[in-house]
Amino acid sequence: MTQYKYILEEKELPTHWYNIIADMKTPPPPYRHPVTLQPMKPEDLVPVFPQALIEQEASRERWIEIPDEVRDVLKMWRPSPLYRAARWEKALDTPAKIYYKWEGVSPPGSHKPNTAVAQAYYAKQEGLEGFATETGAGQWGSALCFATQLFGLKCKVFMVAISYHQKPYRRIAMETWGGDVVPSPSSETKAGRDILAVDPETSGSLGIAISEAIEYAVTHDGFKYSLGSVVNFVLLHQTVIGLEARKQMEMAGDYPDILIGCAGGGSNAAGLIYPFLRDKLIGEKPNLRAIFVESAACPSMTRGIYAYDWGDTAKTGPVAKMHTVGHGFIPAPVHAGGLRYHGMAPSICRLLEDGIVEARAYHQNQVFDAALSFAQAEGFIVAPETAHAIRAVYDEAMACKESGESKVILFNCSGHGHFDLAAYDAYHRWELPDYEFEEEKIQKALAELPQVAE
Ligand SMILES: *Cc1c(COP(=O)(O)O)cnc(C)c1O
Repeated sequence: MTQYKYILEEKELPTHWYNIIADMKTPPPPYRHPVTLQPMKPEDLVPVFPQALIEQEASRERWIEIPDEVRDVLKMWRPSPLYRAARWEKALDTPAKIYYKWEGVSPPGSHKPNTAVAQAYYAKQEGLEGFATETGAGQWGSALCFATQLFGLKCKVFMVAISYHQKPYRRIAMETWGGDVVPSPSSETKAGRDILAVDPETSGSLGIAISEAIEYAVTHDGFKYSLGSVVNFVLLHQTVIGLEARKQMEMAGDYPDILIGCAGGGSNAAGLIYPFLRDKLIGEKPNLRAIFVESAACPSMTRGIYAYDWGDTAKTGPVAKMHTVGHGFIPAPVHAGGLRYHGMAPSICRLLEDGIVEARAYHQNQVFDAALSFAQAEGFIVAPETAHAIRAVYDEAMACKESGESKVILFNCSGHGHFDLAAYDAYHRWELPDYEFEEEKIQKALAELPQVAE
């Protein structure tokens, strides 16, 4: 009999997060100040983030305890199930063994509440009134609204204009969880007004929305800024995924040869991958492969450069060394809104630069081909972001078929696509464009990078 699911009990929820910085030979360099470009001190971040999170951002501790109140909320849906994709393996006729961690079981439907809950908890501890944030596809915004209302906090969300109009259901979900949502660029901030003055019809970008949220947070008493990806503490909070998966893979009697996750800012992929990657960093699993999959419309890891860049368009946030296509780059309006960020998590970029992990990019149609094949075998209709990971799994499974090898592939199934059915509809109707790679636009954006002396 095939076993499809590996389930942990609530008491097996991890007690500590795993901080990969402790095990990296060359950790990512410190952030630079957005104006002076000098190395940033933790206190420079005080107006922006809650104190506990600033400490986690700079921490070199390997294990960081998860507060009981955070674990208590995570237990609403965690531990999440690990699936064996036995039916998909059969449909693909591959000797590969495919497993996936299913994060679509959280109330907002993705991995994002794993960090939203922790951030809301620390904000409450600090006596804050609320958070301001940005959201692309709306998944981060809905995760944060869900989490803040559980702790009695307010949530102001700047939603990338194109998604605000394409994805009204996400906005409605955010409002149902008590959030206050505006399309970005908006007229509520100087950053937004400046952009609108130049281009009133702009589809917006995550970089612009981040600028607006930071401005809102630092100009409103009791508010701080919340970020759903990219920075160390977010990746840290997501490691519950990989820590659970380690136990579940043990139950299954397998260990992954290849780990795969889609990457916008890198948090869900790192959340699954880092707790396993530790085995590679300490020399126990030298051949372990890890693949971060991005959108060909915003190819920071595969076509960008490894350099210092601002995290946001208005250059108000920290400057980080990362793979970037430039803070001014506005990607084509692909449906995977969560993969439209110009940069990538600095720790992933460092690992990529050191040849420890791999990166890959796909266009929308090949991604939806794979998502359809997955949905018809496994049933789950995944988010367009998640579908990028599924395409990479598909290619690896096909490579196994070719070579006859029975590799163990584990990927993070980061969220469901129930609010993204319009994208599936466009795909079914052959109306999904594959945007040409815009080398010229990227070169133009890269010319605007800060000149940082190292
Ligand atoms: C936001 C999102 C992503 C991309 O963000 P990461 O920080 O790279 O994980 C991927 N999948 C889903 C379902 C998302 O909501």
